[in-house]
Amino acid sequence: MTVFNLGSINLDYFYKVPHLPKPGETLGALSFSQGLGGKGANQSVALARGGAEVYHIGQIHKDDEAHIALMAQAGVDLTHIARGDVPTGHAIVVIDDASGENQILLMAGANHALTDSQMTKALEGAKAGDWALTQNETNLGEAFLKTAKSKGLQICYSAAPFVKDKLLALIDDVDLLVVNEGEAAEIAAALGKAPEAWGLPHLVVTKGAQGAYYWGKEGALFQPSEQVKAVDTTGAGDTYLGFLLAQLSHGASISQAMAIASKAASIQVTRFGTADAIPALAEL
Ligand code: ATP
Repeated sequence: MTVFNLGSINLDYFYKVPHLPKPGETLGALSFSQGLGGKGANQSVALARGGAEVYHIGQIHKDDEAHIALMAQAGVDLTHIARGDVPTGHAIVVIDDASGENQILLMAGANHALTDSQMTKALEGAKAGDWALTQNETNLGEAFLKTAKSKGLQICYSAAPFVKDKLLALIDDVDLLVVNEGEAAEIAAALGKAPEAWGLPHLVVTKGAQGAYYWGKEGALFQPSEQVKAVDTTGAGDTYLGFLLAQLSHGASISQAMAIASKAASIQVTRFGTADAIPALAEL
C-alpha cells in the first residue's frame, strides 16, 4: 500500500547563543547550522527509510529545491510538492549554550498555501486501502483526510501540534491515531474519557523512554522502549510514526510494527539531528 502524506516542510535554522536574547537586545550567535525540518517532512523521510512507498504533498519556495534533497535521497516521491513564490516554512531555533533552553520562532509560509487542486490531483493516483497521513502544520489537513476517506483510503492522523477543533472534526474518520503522552492528555481532556475508551480502530500513545501503548482492534499492548543513551530526542515521535506506518503499509501486525518503530526511534535518539538522524531499515 502507498502512503500519501500531506505535511509541512521547514527549513530549520539553529543558533547557539551565550544566553537567550532579551527584548531589544542584539546578540551575536556562537554557532549556526541548518537542516530540513517540519513534522510532515520528518515523517515522510521516516516512512521512506522504513521501506514505505510515500508521496509527499506540500509546498516550498521555488528557490529552495536543495533543501529537500534529503527527502529525495531517502526515497520520498516529490512529484506532489508545489514549488511557488511563497517563502518556505521555517523555524529559527535559538539555543542557550549553557542551559540548552530554547526559543523557537515559527513561520508557516508555504505550508499554509497548499491548494485544493494540488491535494485532489495528488489523490487521483490513490487506490482504496492506501494510507493518507497528515499532521497539524499545514492548511487543508481536514479536507485532505475527508477526501481520502471518501476514496476508501485508510486514515492515519498525527494530532500534533494538538488543535482541539481539528481533532473533534476528524476523529470519527481516523483509522490510526498516533500521539505522544502530552497530546493524549489533551485529547482525554477534550473528549472527557481515557484513551482506552476513545473507541478508535487503532490508537498508539508513545511515552518516550518508557515505551508505547496500543488500544484497538488488535487488543491492548505495551511495547517497552529499548534501553539506550539518548543524546537528542527531537524527531523521535516522527521516526516512530514513520516506521510504524511503513510496516503497516506492508501488512505487518500492530505488534510487529510497534517493535520495529521502537527500534528505529531508539537508534534515532542516539544521534544528533532530526531527519538526518533517522536510520535506514537495514540498520535495524
Ligand atoms: P519528539 O517530540 O521528541 O519527537 P514525541 O514526544 O512525539 O517525540 P516520544 O513519546 O517522546 O514522542 O517518543 C516516541 C518514541 O521514540 C517512543 O515511544 C520510543 O519508542 C522512542 N524514544 C523516545 N525517547 C527515547 C529514549 N530516551 N530511549 C529510547 N527510546 C526512545
